[in-house]
Amino acid sequence: MARLPIPKSLKRILVPAWNEGHRLGWLVRDHAGAVLSGRWARCSVCGRVRPMIYRRRVVPEKLAERWGLTPRLAKALARKESSDCAGCGAKLRARRIASVLLETFPIGSPPAPARSLAEWVRSPEAARMRIAEINRIDGIHGALSHLPGFASSDYHPGAPPGAIVEGVRSEDLTRLTYPDASFDLVLTSESLEHVPDLGAALRGIRRVLAPGGLHIFTVPVLPDEPKTFRRAELRPDGSIKHLAASIHHPGGDVGYLVFTEFGADLPEVLKRAGFDLTVHYGPVREDDLTQVYVCRWMGL
Ligand SMILES: [Zn+2]
Repeated sequence: MARLPIPKSLKRILVPAWNEGHRLGWLVRDHAGAVLSGRWARCSVCGRVRPMIYRRRVVPEKLAERWGLTPRLAKALARKESSDCAGCGAKLRARRIASVLLETFPIGSPPAPARSLAEWVRSPEAARMRIAEINRIDGIHGALSHLPGFASSDYHPGAPPGAIVEGVRSEDLTRLTYPDASFDLVLTSESLEHVPDLGAALRGIRRVLAPGGLHIFTVPVLPDEPKTFRRAELRPDGSIKHLAASIHHPGGDVGYLVFTEFGADLPEVLKRAGFDLTVHYGPVREDDLTQVYVCRWMGL
């Protein structure tokens, strides 16, 4: 039996409706999953009590295979990259950075941690802070964006460091253009692994921090990798030399190349770079890859 041709005009209506149906299907499934498994919590970013949406599909099977992740590691990575707050969308890694920030910078008298970034930003203590967010961190970015001392940047390949591209300042972690000692807090999340020269990035962060200032961040660390190693390096002519199997993280047109693979020795790497270090939610383990590192620069 010949299939009836579907008129183009009808397709234009049916295809979006079909896609929207799929999207709603996922939404219902994700919310039901969060409710049934009791994943409700107060969000440290927006302050609302909401389901935290775990989405295993953010780490597709093919990717997990290519990266050599065990099923437990793949799940732990999916938790880090999802567990989104149904209220504001902040992922687990953003919510943990927020929790550590709230603990580290209590407000009021006597000082106590605010319950959320939404509450924290309304305090005079937060209004006095000079904060650099280097590469946008979804959830945190929105919560902090109205603070007077908040500076945000993204990395636009090819743009001169410090240039404004489509309204957003472009900064390269290895060549920061902010003045010396100009921030109390630098925030990065899943960025340091993509920097061609890790030493230059850590020196740059140290330079822009005021004495006593903090760099709070997350990076991918694999628990079964004892030693930090370089997967690639940038040659002076701008070409890339691959030293180990190349890995890209999702994003951009072709994904972001990983230059440094961090191992369990990351705390020593950071101490050697001159920082005092505390690790929150550590140590890294097969069931929890979402550690938050707090590096304090004590000054020269
Ligand atoms: Zn939230």
